[in-house]
Amino acid sequence: MTQVPNITLSNGNTIPQLGFGVFQIEPADTAAAVRSALEVGYRHIDTAQMYGNEKEVGEGIRDSGVPRDEIFVTSKLNNKFHEPAAAREAFATTLSDLGLDHIDLFLIHWPLPTQYGGDFVSTWQTLIEFGKDGRSGAVGVSNFQPEHLERLAAETDLVPAVNQIEVHPYFPNESVRKYNNDHGIVTEAWSPIAQGDVLSDPVINQIAGQLGKSAAQVVLRWHVQRGDVIFPKSVTPKRVQENFDLFDFELDDATMRAIDALDKGVAGRRGPDPDTFDWVG
Ligand code: NDP
Repeated sequence: MTQVPNITLSNGNTIPQLGFGVFQIEPADTAAAVRSALEVGYRHIDTAQMYGNEKEVGEGIRDSGVPRDEIFVTSKLNNKFHEPAAAREAFATTLSDLGLDHIDLFLIHWPLPTQYGGDFVSTWQTLIEFGKDGRSGAVGVSNFQPEHLERLAAETDLVPAVNQIEVHPYFPNESVRKYNNDHGIVTEAWSPIAQGDVLSDPVINQIAGQLGKSAAQVVLRWHVQRGDVIFPKSVTPKRVQENFDLFDFELDDATMRAIDALDKGVAGRRGPDPDTFDWVG
């Protein structure tokens, strides 16, 4: 069976570099999707309170028969629960919805710097509690910009284990990746194939043709070689398998550089700008 590399987090725990994302999978389809991803060999599931499918993720894990301690499970705090009391209650609900006594990683989903009086620090201090009491193996953030991370470093005593941010060839997000890397924070790349947008790119397709791989495999392999954690989403069984088969080929330096050159700067973003995103719901 394919060996997915593990990446070591700052607290010594390890995370499989390749996982399965469940954003925009309908709750009714989620248990089956998670179960089939686990059958293919995925051992890392990325969900969030806002995806509305944590119960079904838990169901898929139980149905799979794969032992709990072999699966890395991540969830994220809903934007509407940033205040400490609300965050504590929401985290307890995540555990009960998943049917787990602990998860492996829990993240602040968005910094929302223009909401809650600009206070994401007390939210972070609350997540630190979940790490300390063992109900979350590690804690981290998502969509945090360097200035947000600087505040956490200055005002609390724990640096996030990961920062989950938008990264793909059209928006490689290098400045945030560099900050993460310089501060021992693992980068998780969300929308790694830009929700499909990069798959029709002529450069990607030319490389794919030369290597006899699919466009998605080429892009996902580029992420793997850059060292980021990825969790592509698919409800299509053939793609779920294809996205897992990334470890029997390599991109040479020139090919890596050709994909790096597809950077469109902020025009390449697929999702919102974390500095201004203020949706609380
Ligand atoms: P992805 O970049 O993973 O792309 C998913 C889309 O690509 C789907 O439409 C899927 O179609 C299609 N697809 C997947 N594999 C292939 C393939 N091999 N060939 C062709 N098409 C393919 O987008 P996501 O936005 O879902 O990102 C992945 C994960 O990142 C999410 O599920 C979530 O866990 C996380 N995320 C986190 C965010 C955050 O703010 N922290 C924001 C966004 C995502 P189909 O399913 O029909 O097969």
